[in-house]
Order: sequence, then structure tokens, then C-alpha cells
Amino acid sequence: MTALFDLSGRTALVTGSAQGLGYAIARGLGEAGAIVVLNDVVADRLDVAVTRLCTEGLDAHGVLFDVTDKAGVEAGVAHVEARIGPVEILVNNAGIQHRAPLEDFPEEAWDRLMTVNVKGVFLVAQAVARRMIARGHGKIINISSVQGVQARSSIAPYTATKGAVNNLTRGMATDWARHGIQVNAIGPGYFITEITQPLADDPDFDGWLRDRTPAGRWGDPSELVGAAVFLAADASSFVNGQVIYVDGGLLAAL
Ligand code: NAD
Repeated sequence: MTALFDLSGRTALVTGSAQGLGYAIARGLGEAGAIVVLNDVVADRLDVAVTRLCTEGLDAHGVLFDVTDKAGVEAGVAHVEARIGPVEILVNNAGIQHRAPLEDFPEEAWDRLMTVNVKGVFLVAQAVARRMIARGHGKIINISSVQGVQARSSIAPYTATKGAVNNLTRGMATDWARHGIQVNAIGPGYFITEITQPLADDPDFDGWLRDRTPAGRWGDPSELVGAAVFLAADASSFVNGQVIYVDGGLLAAL
């Protein structure tokens, strides 16, 4: 039974994982046996995160690249494959947020959201999938959001990016399932990280969220690990193009 969830010896690349949800997911994959490669654009934060995981006894490495830079992505993935191991698990986690009234939303912020949250997923998945196709197997997990299917005031462009991630997940699964690659997504509800700290600091929002979420609380990043390990492991060998929401019941209730 445990073999279904065992990731021993498999190399997992997690983008945007120097902190927040990506860090928690990388740590969880490492605890399930994977060799974890953290990626970020902030070099010192990346070094600290890798050192912390190594100190905990995990086989952790770092690779610095911007998911929006095609040449940098290709060089980074090539480096991981040459120096660490074939990327058998990819978690496309890097993402950003920008909150503003839609009627005044800056065009540059729209472009940046689309570039990081959508094009970044495409570029890294493409670089990794080409290699997975040649090997005939692989796992890709895209980090979406409950905002992939629900809007909230002041974040319409972010919502559009996560809707795109959901459909990109279905498209990748459709194109790549025949090559033995399973592509799925995780849609987190609300977890306290740097992205959501301003919301957690706002007593009105905090109270609203606790009332709105059937579980009555924010999620802890470690609570994403179960879904991530499942989607990274043999246990999900016939699961393709799905979005698993880990949201304390938020989407289930009005
Ligand atoms: P975070 O800001 O704490 O961490 C994101 C990390 O990504 C940072 O370390 C940042 O430096 C890195 N990053 C940003 N742009 C990058 C780029 N171009 N290339 C490489 N790395 C880059 O955010 P988080 O809350 O951990 O969010 C992670 C993912 O989860 C995002 O896709 C976000 O949309 C999604 N998400 C978060 C929540 C939540 O409640 N926190 C809920 C739903 C979805």
C-alpha cells in the first residue's frame, strides 16, 4: 500500500518554493522520499530554504530562474537534469497577486499577472514535458486556486489567470496523457502566506473568511501535502486533468 505513495529517488522540481505554499509542498514531497529541487527568483531566500530542508535531513537543492524567462527556464531545467536527476515530478507553484478596483486596474499589473501565473506555467511545463515525453512518464501538478472558479472583488485579473490554469491543466492532460504523463491541479482555498498576509491582518476579512469557510478557519500550508503527494505518486496513475480543491469546504457552501 505504501508503495502507492512512495516517492523515493524521484526528482521533484517545485517553482516559487523559497517560501509559502511551494515550500510546504516541496518539504512534503521530500518527506515522502523525493529529491527536491526548490526554485525561486529571490536568491538569498532560496538559499535559506534549501539549507533549512537539508538541515532537516532532506535531499534538497536549489535552482534560480524566473519562470517567465524562456531561456532561463530551459537552462535551469537542463541544469537540474544534468546535475541532480530527471525531473519526474513538476509542481508549477510560482504565482503572484495584485489587488485593485477593476475599473482602475493598471495594465502593467494585468500583464505581469498573466505572464507569471499563466505563461510561467506553460513555459516550465513545456521544458519539462519534452523530457518526460522522451522518458514515457511524469507528473505535473499546477497550483490553481478556488479563484479558478469563483470571483472575489478586487482580484478579477488573478481570477482570470487561475481559470486559465484550470483549463491549461485540462489541455496539458489531453495532449500528454498518452505519453504516460499525468497532469492535474490543486486549488487551494485560503492559507496564510506572504500573498494573503494583508487579508489575514484585516479583522473584517479574517472574520468574513472564517464565517464563509465551513471548516471555520484558514488552512495551514502543510495541509496541501496530502493532495500533492497523491498527485505526484503512482496512486494517481489514472487521474488526468482534475482540479482537487483543498479549501475547508469553501466551494461546497454558499
Ligand atoms: P508567496 O508569495 O508566499 O510565494 C510565492 C513564491 O514564488 C515567492 O517565493 C516568489 O519569490 C516566487 N516567485 C514569484 N514570481 C516568480 C517567478 N517569476 N519565478 C519564480 N519564482 C517566483 O505565495 P503563496 O501564497 O505561497 O502562493 C503560491 C501559489 O499558490 C501561487 O500560485 C498562488 O496563486 C497560489 N495560491 C495561494 C493561496 C494562499 O492562500 N496563499 C491560495 C490559492 C492559491
